[in-house]
Amino acid sequence: MPTYHYRCNNCGYDFTKMQDFSDAALTVCPRCGKKTLRKIFSAVPIEFKGSGFYRTDHSHSSSHK
Ligand SMILES: [Zn+2]
Repeated sequence: MPTYHYRCNNCGYDFTKMQDFSDAALTVCPRCGKKTLRKIFSAVPIEFKGSGFYRTDHSHSSSHK
């Protein structure tokens, strides 16, 4: 599911939302309630929580138990 990036032109609220391709684009800002949302197309990768956990660092694996 793609993640869309939105920004409100009114209050400056900036957020990302996961939406299906068939979902309609958001227009109402969830913060100020005005129809001033702007969809931003960017190549910002989706941030998965815990992406930095899997390090292929073997030098400390034996002494870091
Ligand atoms: Zn707003």
